[in-house]
Amino acid sequence: QAKDDGRNTYHFYDAVMHERILERRFLENEIRHALDNDKLDLYYQPKISFESGRIVGAEALIRWHHPDRGMIPPMEFIPIAERCGLISRIGEWVLETACAQAQRWRQAGLGLDNIAVNVSAAQFRNGDLGDIIDRILQSTGLEPEILELEITETTVMQEMDIIVEMLASLKKLGVGVAIDDFGTGYSSLAYLRRLPLTKIKIDRSFVTDILENQDASVVANAIISLGHSLNLKLVAEGIEKPDQAAFLAEKGCQEGQGYLFGRPMPSEDFQALLAAGQVYEKN
Ligand code: C2E
Ligand code: MG
Ligand code: MG
Ligand code: MG
Repeated sequence: QAKDDGRNTYHFYDAVMHERILERRFLENEIRHALDNDKLDLYYQPKISFESGRIVGAEALIRWHHPDRGMIPPMEFIPIAERCGLISRIGEWVLETACAQAQRWRQAGLGLDNIAVNVSAAQFRNGDLGDIIDRILQSTGLEPEILELEITETTVMQEMDIIVEMLASLKKLGVGVAIDDFGTGYSSLAYLRRLPLTKIKIDRSFVTDILENQDASVVANAIISLGHSLNLKLVAEGIEKPDQAAFLAEKGCQEGQGYLFGRPMPSEDFQALLAAGQVYEKN
């Protein structure tokens, strides 16, 4: 009896595993196809300055609209692209597209001071990220100070040595570096001081609960103090309510991003938003 169960269980897992492998292989092929046929898209989400209420930058966020399956979120396909080695090509496409777009907006006099691009661990591991960025800055004509790379705290902790080295060369180029989803990992002050960062991005989980949950507001406050003492700029992600923005601004966070100010949107929509020159009033 027990033996039978064991065998059935084995067959069951076997089938599940097999299905998963097929699904992953299917998605790998579909991602490759989308990349080769220029079917990936970049959306832009506004970042505002709490001081002026104006849009000062954008975060570029990848979108993949699959013909049969609809919108597939980056959290689903980026990990697959990382595993099968496609992330380098995708990452390069994202950097190139975002820099070219930001430069067009700047040349049109739309005044965008910052374009943030997410970079995954695999792009650092390749070792040629500095050369790629250098080339893209040359070919698009974008000033290095406008580009900001976003690296998650978790990535930094996993790849500390590679990242310290790579960031040093990126700093020489003049590119900004923000540590993304900050507060969710376990980085120590000592580590942070080793990194040539320019900005800390407070994770959405603390922002969401900032008014309801004492722990979240304590952590947010501590991150802001940390940023101030390390001379780093602060930006908060996931702001959905005016009270959250007011709290963060009052504590000395300089920039905000979230549905309150705008969702990630296609380039044409973001351009219209920039052109309108809207100012968000503090309440
Ligand atoms: P992230 O870099 O932390 O990006 C912020 C995510 O929060 C985005 O999800 C954005 O749409 C969402 N968000 C922004 N404001 C709000 C808000 O007010 N409320 C809520 N509930 N959500 C908000 P998205 O676009 O699905 O991206 C998820 C993650 O996928 C990103 O997290 C980033 O880690 C990764 N990702 C996105 N684009 C790229 C890319 O081009 N390259 C790489 N390597 N990773 C990317
Ligand atoms: Mg990000
Ligand atoms: Mg983030
Ligand atoms: Mg996040």
